[in-house]
Amino acid sequence: MSLRFLNRIRKTTGFRLTVWYSAIFILSSLALFGIAYVLLSSSLKQKDHETIQAKLKDYQAQYRTGGIIAIRNELNFEKYAGKPNIFFIRVAGPKNQTLFLSLPDQWGNVDLKSLENGDSSVKESWTYLRAGDRKKGVEIASAPLPDGCSLQIGKNMENREELLESFRKAFIGVMIPVILLGVIGGQFLAFRALRPIRHLINTVRAITATGKIDSRVPTGQTGDELDELVLLFNQMLGQIEVLINGMKETLDNVAHDLRTPMTRLRGVAELALQADQSPDTCREALADCLEESERVLKMLNTLMDISEAETGALKLKLEPVNISELLGNVVELYRYVAEDKQLVVHTAYPRELYVTADRHRLQQALANLLDNALKYTPSGGRVEVEADAHPQEVVIDIKDSGPGIPLEEIPKIWDRLYRGDQSRSQRGLGLGLSLVKAIVAAHRGQVEVTSELGVGSRFSVHLPKQP
Ligand code: ADP
Repeated sequence: MSLRFLNRIRKTTGFRLTVWYSAIFILSSLALFGIAYVLLSSSLKQKDHETIQAKLKDYQAQYRTGGIIAIRNELNFEKYAGKPNIFFIRVAGPKNQTLFLSLPDQWGNVDLKSLENGDSSVKESWTYLRAGDRKKGVEIASAPLPDGCSLQIGKNMENREELLESFRKAFIGVMIPVILLGVIGGQFLAFRALRPIRHLINTVRAITATGKIDSRVPTGQTGDELDELVLLFNQMLGQIEVLINGMKETLDNVAHDLRTPMTRLRGVAELALQADQSPDTCREALADCLEESERVLKMLNTLMDISEAETGALKLKLEPVNISELLGNVVELYRYVAEDKQLVVHTAYPRELYVTADRHRLQQALANLLDNALKYTPSGGRVEVEADAHPQEVVIDIKDSGPGIPLEEIPKIWDRLYRGDQSRSQRGLGLGLSLVKAIVAAHRGQVEVTSELGVGSRFSVHLPKQP
């Protein structure tokens, strides 16, 4: 394993999480052991103290009945009864001189001087005494006797220390598997916690390698933040996919729709270039070319406008606009078209109906709706243009008595370059409604349609008074 590889591992989140998990586990185990050790040691000490105190009281009573002889008799009695002698017993005179001393079995000499030199005024106290060659000493409790002497009872601390020693040894033995468990457990937890991230990385890698956006990150069932991230990431991928597919489709449609006028343009130009053409034929061909190029230009401009409006790049020149005046202009603009088709255009709106909007863009949108109404309504039909003010918005309705739109086509009519099946015979680019929707949305408004086959359609534009 090279040093660089180890360095890379060290920087990974997995490694850091493993270290954190293991450290917390090991430190918790250490703390737990520490607490258990302190509790055990203090409870052993307390138990020893209780035993010594009980013995002290016992021998105090013996002394009261028969002095040192009674204590000696009691000791002899215990010896014959086979009880092990585990207590240090000392009777000290008023000047702290040793009057009687009994040491536990198998004890060496005791440093009596330190006891005799000790403070004799302490009537009830605990002392610690080292015992001969032993590493541990005795704990001694002292109590006064009625005749001015004092009684000292002590107990060997060796047993207690041995128990604590074996506890410490057991801890060292246990700590090795605990550390191993901590590291393995930490690795497992880090592996589990980072699983969604690994899936995310793999999916992003697959998308960048293949360019296909249809891959999705497998979702877990934990419902935690990482799961939420994965869900949101998948949602984002879904939206990007829809967007890319939409763009592809639009591009295909544009290419398809451009091919027809361009082919026609080329055909007309070729015809005009043929040798023996009269000037009139050439002029006519040029006029056709102009018309076709106008059509292509219009289509491209409208596409640009739609995408600008949709992406928010369309700069709106907002000003107070009287919708009634605007509708009057639009109706006037299409008066000849309506008359030509013998259509009745009925208008109904108050004299003044103000909104803050971009006059030119709004007129473009309303003109498109009226253009469609007139275009799709057969001769002798009726078109109604109405507008009314509501508390927060102005609603403009353009209603016709045309063929209506089939229910399944309604969601598609707002798509770029979409043209209804029955509308192929009419002029059009399939961009009008997309532009209307984009312009209205840029004004933070909404446009909706209700339509009934054979009865007609109603397009309603809801514009907030202040976008
Ligand atoms: P175009 O009119 O150029 O085809 P539009 O985007 O303006 O494109 O409209 C999309 C489609 O919606 C039309 O092809 C037509 O099928 C349908 N449509 C729009 N307005 C009307 C209407 N007033 N009556 C019936 N159909 C309509």
